[in-house]
Amino acid sequence: MSEFMDFEMLSMGTIITQRIYSRNAKIVSNIVNEEIKKLEEMMSFFKTSSDVSKLNNAAGISMVSLDTNTFNVIKNAKIFSESCNGAFDITIGALVKLWGIFTETEAVPQQTQIYKALELVNYKDIILDEEMNSAMLLNKGEMIDLGAIAKGYAADKALEIYQKCGIESAFINLGGNVHALGNKPDGSPWKIGLQNPWSPRGDFMGVIDITNKTVVTSGDYVRYFEKDNKKYHHILDPRTGYPADTKVVSATIVGDNSMQADALSTAVFILGVEKGMELIKNFKGLEAIFITQDKKVHITEGLKKNFIFDNEKEWQCII
Ligand code: AMP
Ligand code: MG
Repeated sequence: MSEFMDFEMLSMGTIITQRIYSRNAKIVSNIVNEEIKKLEEMMSFFKTSSDVSKLNNAAGISMVSLDTNTFNVIKNAKIFSESCNGAFDITIGALVKLWGIFTETEAVPQQTQIYKALELVNYKDIILDEEMNSAMLLNKGEMIDLGAIAKGYAADKALEIYQKCGIESAFINLGGNVHALGNKPDGSPWKIGLQNPWSPRGDFMGVIDITNKTVVTSGDYVRYFEKDNKKYHHILDPRTGYPADTKVVSATIVGDNSMQADALSTAVFILGVEKGMELIKNFKGLEAIFITQDKKVHITEGLKKNFIFDNEKEWQCII
């Protein structure tokens, strides 16, 4: 089967593309699109009717009954937070709002405002009731934002749908969050481009060969604003309340589960190369690529043979 179709839609604040090799490609892509739209409706930080908004509005007041999808994402997010000592923390919401990320009013807040918002960041304040599929944020003003994990979850859902529909070869890309099923129909691996952080979108500094894997990148170039010649990006460090500043410009995780790779790519971006590399050793089957401000490329041993630089001379590769 070498017939394929490409599909594109806008959702979850990004462009989502799918390539599906099947005679039923169009039908399957529609099922996936509908599923993603449904997930966006429940997990959006901005939609007032989403599970996330309901939870945030009821913070410090009452338990909120959630869709099983939202519940699962929150439950897993809490576990990921524990594993990285809170570098990744979905209760970052108040800080995200303060910085105006993804709004027209992005601005550097005052230090006092940052301290106040930081008091509202603590994943331990997420109360979960497994039997009732419900949750609550302990204190008024606390807010969750699933922006660092929801796309990964959606990618896993898409893959499930491909498999249920008997597809053997497909991939989905949710704005840098890639999940690939099988190989290409000719038996060769999928080639996933790694964005050059200093070049326009779609300019790759290399490609990663993958089969049945997910590749997720967190980068400082994805969303940022500049003030007084300083760049302020969208990945916030819960320890300081400021954009993470560990000289990492992009952190990529290659693994089997996209939700995990999404959460951890955000976590390791914040932790930096050394601590980030240590963290992923705790998880089975994960590989990583970090690009730092000084144009060094740190690649885990297991990924070396699957990564091909576009122009190796430009970079200093460290394994
Ligand atoms: P990602 O691109 O997956 O690294 O996610 C970045 C997005 O997650 C941001 O746009 C925020 O909405 C949210 N976010 C920012 N900092 C954090 C953090 N430390 N933990 C969890 N989510 C975060
Ligand atoms: Mg992420």
